[in-house]
Amino acid sequence: MTIAIVSHPQCALHNANFTHPERPERIEVIQDALRRYHFDAPITFYEAPDATREQLENTHAKEYVDYIFAIAPTEGVVTLDPDTWMNPFTLNAALCAAGAVVLAVDLVMKQIAQAVFCNVRPPGHHAEFDKAMGFCFFNNVAVGVKHALDVYNLSRIVIVDFDVHHGNGTQNIFQNDERVLYCSSFEHPFYPGYSAELDNEHLLAVPLPAGTNSEEFRSKVQTAWFDKIAAFKPQLVFFSAGFDAHIKDPLANLNLVEADYVWLTQQIAKIAKECCEGKMISVLEGGYNLDALAHCVPAHVNAMV
Ligand SMILES: [Zn+2]
Repeated sequence: MTIAIVSHPQCALHNANFTHPERPERIEVIQDALRRYHFDAPITFYEAPDATREQLENTHAKEYVDYIFAIAPTEGVVTLDPDTWMNPFTLNAALCAAGAVVLAVDLVMKQIAQAVFCNVRPPGHHAEFDKAMGFCFFNNVAVGVKHALDVYNLSRIVIVDFDVHHGNGTQNIFQNDERVLYCSSFEHPFYPGYSAELDNEHLLAVPLPAGTNSEEFRSKVQTAWFDKIAAFKPQLVFFSAGFDAHIKDPLANLNLVEADYVWLTQQIAKIAKECCEGKMISVLEGGYNLDALAHCVPAHVNAMV
C-alpha cells in the first residue's frame, strides 16, 4: 500500500497577474501540507511529465489542441473567456497537469503505487472535447482515463467528481462512452449551468441546493452512487477532487467539512478494494480556501489507503 504524489513546479507559474481565486498558492500550500503530513503508508513524490500531443488528441479535438498551442502567448496574458486566461507559462502548466494523470495511471497499473494524488493546476473538469472554460484547458482526468482505457485495455472506469461545480467537460467527453461511470455531485443551480437532459445510466448526477450540509450530502451520494459503483465493478477509480464545496470556500455555498471528504473517500476506497485492489487516482480540481486545502487534501489522500 503505497501513495504517490505527482506535481510540477511549472504548475505554479500559470498566473493571471491579477487577483484570481485559481492562484499558484493553491499548489504550494497543498505540496507543503503533503510533505508535512504523517501518512499511514509510504509516500513517494514524482515530477509530472508533459502530456504528448497524441495523448491530448485522444481526448480533445485535434483542431482544439492546435488552437490552444497557437493561442498560447510568449508574453502578456490572453483571455479565452472571462474566467480562463493564459500567460507564457500556462501551456507548459497545462501539459504537466494532464501528463501527471498519465503518469499516475502508469504508476497504478504497473503496481508501483496503489493510490496517486496529482497536485496540479490548471484544473480540468470544465474543459470539453473542443472548448476551454472555467479555468480549464485540457481535461486532465479525461486524458488519464483515455490512457487507461486504450493503453491498459480497461473497460470499466469510475470517476467520482466531488467538486462543487458540475464537471460539464467530463460529462461532454464521456457521455456516449459506457466504459466510464461518471458520478458528479455539485451545487445546483450554479456554474456552469447543469442540464439533466444529457443524463443516462452511466452519468450519475447529484445536484445539491445551496446550504446543503454534511448529513444531506452523505445521504444523497450514498443513495445515488455506492450500490451502482459496486455493481459496475470498476477496474480503476478516479477522483475529480475539488474542495470548493467546503464551508470556508469563497466561491460556493455548500457546507462540507474535512470529515465529509474523508468519509466519501473511505467509502469509495472500500469498493475499490473489493473490485480493483484499491487502485485509485485523485486529481485536484477546484478549492479556493488555502486553509481548507491544506487540511482536506492530505486527509483525503490518506483516506485512499
Ligand atoms: Zn469547482
